[in-house]
Amino acid sequence: MDRDRFARITKTSLEGKEVLTPNFSPLIQNERELDIYLQRTLSPKDNEHLGTFVMRIFDAYNILLPLIRTKNQVDIEGKPIPSLYSDFLEKTVFFIDPATEYLKYDFYFYKFLQLARRVRFPRPIMTYLRGRENRKKNSGPKFYKKWKNKEHKDFWYKLDRDQRRRNDLITDYFDLESRFETKILIPPMPIVENVGLLDIAIRINDISKALAINRGECATYFLLSKKILRNEKIIDKIIDYLVGDPSKLTIFKFKNLTLWTTGSLIERESFRKLMQELSKIRKYKKEKLFMLLEASLQSFPSASYGFDIVSSSMRLLDIDSSFGHSGYGGYFNEDILWNIDYEKLPEIMMNNGGRLPCPCNVCRKITLDNAKRELLYNGRKITFDEWYEHRRGHNLFVMNSLMKMIHKAVEEKHVELIREKLINSEIRNLKVLIPRFYQ
Ligand SMILES: [Zn+2]
Repeated sequence: MDRDRFARITKTSLEGKEVLTPNFSPLIQNERELDIYLQRTLSPKDNEHLGTFVMRIFDAYNILLPLIRTKNQVDIEGKPIPSLYSDFLEKTVFFIDPATEYLKYDFYFYKFLQLARRVRFPRPIMTYLRGRENRKKNSGPKFYKKWKNKEHKDFWYKLDRDQRRRNDLITDYFDLESRFETKILIPPMPIVENVGLLDIAIRINDISKALAINRGECATYFLLSKKILRNEKIIDKIIDYLVGDPSKLTIFKFKNLTLWTTGSLIERESFRKLMQELSKIRKYKKEKLFMLLEASLQSFPSASYGFDIVSSSMRLLDIDSSFGHSGYGGYFNEDILWNIDYEKLPEIMMNNGGRLPCPCNVCRKITLDNAKRELLYNGRKITFDEWYEHRRGHNLFVMNSLMKMIHKAVEEKHVELIREKLINSEIRNLKVLIPRFYQ
């Protein structure tokens, strides 16, 4: 544990497993990404600040559950059968994201619905989901949207009035999370869009801690609409709650947070203030850990100031949309902290001696066909599948490297380098997230 002004680094433990902070925790969404991550963690270096990952509950049901069953198989003598995955799951900390925003959002609604049917969620959820599915099928998009917004709020308000059903929902969720053999329980949450929903979120956080006793470590969780960053009252109320909150781990998720865009001045200031308060809390409660989900390009500044663990998808893009799903995706550049379009890479490579501007083992294998302006792998045009895999492996390297940079800056008492790095990047307006002076 070390600090320099506003930043800190720690070696902490979760579920008895060691975690070095700042830590990057990728959101893993399919088997291939899990494989890429496993390969990265097998390498002897460039993974010190990884070692954790996040998976949404519906993906975990399909991907992790079979692996956990395999892990628990024994041979004739009753000894566990060694496997790569077993070792990996044994030493890695994973967080099961309850993904309750898809009770409202359409993007993964069907994945959520499918899970709910398989594990049978409590009756109010099933009724709500069935109603929503019918409306989605049978009414026009405009009418459906209006209906959905109202119905979704009603769902949480009704649940809040019916304590027994609310507790059933939390318990069912914890039962499901426990099937993944995780000791970190994350409660199901409404997306906070107003003070009323925040009050519900706070009550769920309180009751969840009571319901989690003897089962594991219950995290405090706030799932937030980014528009609440324009509401000082809500931010202040969250901070007030955190000051007295006993949880070791507190998790935040702001949906679709893009603080680097122009016109986000108020949101940036509000987010900075939140981080400042988190940083203060950590000063007198040293064991506290703050985690930010779906952090995207905010990962670097957040891990430098208020948060210990930051998470983003392996594409470093956390917006729920089909954007970027087709074609060769972008490439995250460590110097400018930005996802560069694939089409721009040949030119960048030409100005860099035919190489990608990164020393990682993946990028070193990629060369350029100058005449055709094409990226090559093993001497021929890189395929879509190869690029899919390589850029994710590369992104993990870069995020580890950025966490390492923060670590080093703190150790050497040079945290001003963090602000400088932001100033020299494509997200330079995020420099305001980092204090200039700090006592
Ligand atoms: Zn690379």
